[in-house]
Amino acid sequence: MVGAGLAGLAAAARLVGDGHDVVVLERGGEPGGRAGTWTAAGFTFDTGPTVLTMPHLLDQAFARLGRDRAADLPLIRLDPAYRAVYDDDSELLVRADPADQVAELRLRGLAADARAFPGFVDWLRELYDVEVPNFIERNFDSPVDLLTRPVPAAKLVRLGGFGSLEKAVSRHFADPRLVRLFTFQAMYAGLAPAEALAIYAVITYMDCISGAYFPVGGMHQVPRALASALTSAGAEVRYEHPVTSLLTDATGKLAGVVAGGERIAADAVVITSDLPTAYAELLPQLRPPRALGGADWSPSCLVWHVGVRGEPRPGVAHHNIHFARAWAESFDQLITRKELMGDPSRLVTIPSLDAPGMAPPGHSALYVLEPVPHLGGSVDWTTERGPARERLHGFLQANGYPDDIVTEHLVTPLDWRAQGLAMGTPFSLAHTFAQTGPFRPANVEPRLPGVFFAGSGTTPGVGVPMVLISGELAADRVRDYLGGGR
Ligand SMILES: Cc1cc2nc3c(=O)[nH]c(=O)nc-3n(C[C@H](O)[C@H](O)[C@H](O)COP(=O)(O)OP(=O)(O)OC[C@H]3O[C@@H](n4cnc5c(N)ncnc54)[C@H](O)[C@@H]3O)c2cc1C
Repeated sequence: MVGAGLAGLAAAARLVGDGHDVVVLERGGEPGGRAGTWTAAGFTFDTGPTVLTMPHLLDQAFARLGRDRAADLPLIRLDPAYRAVYDDDSELLVRADPADQVAELRLRGLAADARAFPGFVDWLRELYDVEVPNFIERNFDSPVDLLTRPVPAAKLVRLGGFGSLEKAVSRHFADPRLVRLFTFQAMYAGLAPAEALAIYAVITYMDCISGAYFPVGGMHQVPRALASALTSAGAEVRYEHPVTSLLTDATGKLAGVVAGGERIAADAVVITSDLPTAYAELLPQLRPPRALGGADWSPSCLVWHVGVRGEPRPGVAHHNIHFARAWAESFDQLITRKELMGDPSRLVTIPSLDAPGMAPPGHSALYVLEPVPHLGGSVDWTTERGPARERLHGFLQANGYPDDIVTEHLVTPLDWRAQGLAMGTPFSLAHTFAQTGPFRPANVEPRLPGVFFAGSGTTPGVGVPMVLISGELAADRVRDYLGGGR
């Protein structure tokens, strides 16, 4: 296994469960990759994902290792999942229980939208039930494979899955604030809500309906607990072991890897580095897949980690999404023109509200995320960094967050690029239809038998649930290649 991020750990768990001897080789000093951690001045910050959804996938990964996820990695369900704040200072909460959501909408004077909510949930659930088993948790060998699923495909058509996401959600709700609240998730797939197909409402289902969770102690506990379960189950996880090349036998099949100067024999390897970097560094003799040339990359983000004196006022939630007045034009700036948004929407996450150990007593750990273009645009972060930091500080002040800073760290697209992430985006290839399912770069490299891929650049895609599934799909490929577990 190349990499101890969540994709690599999930693939390793499944392969150990199948009876293989597994060695995970990680270039860094700890597990997690993008789900990393940064500590300073008594604060602990999660550096990557903050919204954990579909925890049953983690249950499955731990179960593969004979472990109980609930014991190894306790989770709390966040309620509210989000506090949405709009430019007119109004607020709406996303509640964990649909009945509470209906009550929330009534309380805010949205009686018609409250009545529409259960039908919206039914629609989302139907999409989810069709898409996950048939199109997401599945390996495709070619686009022709789509034709082997005519019944689910027809159901997606009937559900309006190939229409516009924004229009589909607008048909359920009259209040435009709800349309923003239930479509902004398209951004997780690198798409504008008006451009995304309604099939991507499945992300809204994961985010707002099936539950947002938080591991006790912070998101980085996820890879930490999974890596520990792996070693307990007999896998080797070696840190500070960058894989620098692959070894082949006389027939051209994979025979092992070189890591930290040591040759390690292997029948198969699952590579989880960002795909363009994987090809450049480990497969330089092969032309990268066509899908990578001229690809559409997701926007990137700034993440500002701020340790502050004081605690947020009552009513502030774990996840606070601040919707700016600008909407369609923001996506145009961000995605089409690859410029900074003039009036950006931002996410403020405060994990110390639910994990007090992440900040000293009387202090708070804040995580402020702003979407920004990937490095294919003209923003020069060597000069934009300072002004961007000032704008983020002004935003915290204007929105009543504690802002007396003890420690801080601003991560820009240049930092993501330095981590080997193509185009300076941690969100990989956008989920345009042409870069989804069988059209996304494949998780198998037929030109070098024994080489497989997992992670957000391959199928099914970006985000914690998707990369956990990608680990399973890569393990399926290994099983097919090696002829089953031992
Ligand atoms: C700021 C941010 C916010 C996010 N928010 C969310 C969210 O709220 N919810 C959500 O679901 N998802 C979110 N995501 C996305 C999610 O974190 C990623 O999709 C996922 O963690 C990627 O996992 P991965 O295993 O594919 O890649 P990585 O985590 O990048 O793992 C790859 C690993 O391989 C290692 N590696 C690379 N090359 C080598 C080599 N040659 N030898 C050895 N090791 C190597 C790297 O060091 C790394 O540890 C967010 C990501 C970021 C960065």
